[in-house]
Amino acid sequence: MKVLFASTSEDPDHWLPGLQALLSEDEFVQEPGPDVEVALVANPPPGTFERLPNLKLVQSLWMGVEKLLADPAVPASVPLARLIDPGMVAAMTETVLAHVLDWHRHHFRYRAQQAERRWRPLPQFLAGDRTVGVLGLGALGADAAQALRAHGFRVVGWSRRKKNVVGVESSTDLSEILRKSSVIVCLLPLTEQTMGILNSEHLNLLPDGSCVINVARGGHMVEKDLLAALDSGKLSHAYLDVFEPEPLPPEHPFWTHPKVTVTPHIAALTEPRTSIPKIVANIERVRRGAKPEGLVDRSAGY
Ligand code: NAP
Repeated sequence: MKVLFASTSEDPDHWLPGLQALLSEDEFVQEPGPDVEVALVANPPPGTFERLPNLKLVQSLWMGVEKLLADPAVPASVPLARLIDPGMVAAMTETVLAHVLDWHRHHFRYRAQQAERRWRPLPQFLAGDRTVGVLGLGALGADAAQALRAHGFRVVGWSRRKKNVVGVESSTDLSEILRKSSVIVCLLPLTEQTMGILNSEHLNLLPDGSCVINVARGGHMVEKDLLAALDSGKLSHAYLDVFEPEPLPPEHPFWTHPKVTVTPHIAALTEPRTSIPKIVANIERVRRGAKPEGLVDRSAGY
């Protein structure tokens, strides 16, 4: 089988040797052509899909696929699979835990106090005193929710359909989740329904002094509403990994805001060592005519 690697963002040297080692009979190419049956893509070069008449699968090298879904060049008739990478899931759970613990143990405040040489112990809370609301209980959200639960936090989760995640209270009522949560973690896909969901109407439902962690997409956040909620004291801190646009412009107020922690879209990176076996398994599924894993529901937008 001929497999195309098409990306302006991912380094083929990180992927092709590992893929070729596991699929020695298949031919990996970097130029589109009529024999290509599977395209591995992440920010594919313009024109990629014009020369792929026999494509059976578009396999994203990333977990989020909103750019591919918005690209009219990606043929709607060809199945699109997103990557569900165990290494990326583990990395995201570590990031979420790190931010929740940083907030829960007041480390963000102690860093500010250190800068002022101020010795001021703050009251201690138990993990069970905190309720973490996870928005999106999918591959990433469900794993993070379980890890938070294992650390003793109360965890509530919001998804389109009720989910069965052990120890996690699942709800489809966003207002109910927000009213209960002293920390919210956004792990939603970016769709028409979730764009701008972190807005003043929703942020104002959180208890005073809450914390917001956005590790999904910049488009979920209404920036001016977040700044207003931070400045009014409604929110005590925000951990932001994703922005619109990226990179975050140097003059942006988030860089210097005392209540904002900025990271450069690194909450979870694709890890070729753990994702290559998943891609290989999907190519094998195409070969035997089976349904690939991680198929995107185009009507739902994720
Ligand atoms: P996923 O498995 O598709 O899960 C999405 C979850 O969101 C599901 O629980 C889904 O509900 C829920 N959801 C979707 N639309 C909703 C709506 N309108 N109302 C309520 N719930 C809704 O996605 P994932 O793999 O966990 O990834 C989530 C996102 O994380 C990706 O789309 C990507 O943007 C982002 N991400 C960020 C990074 C980073 O480094 N910052 C890395 C990887 C991914 P159902 O369960 O009912 O379908």
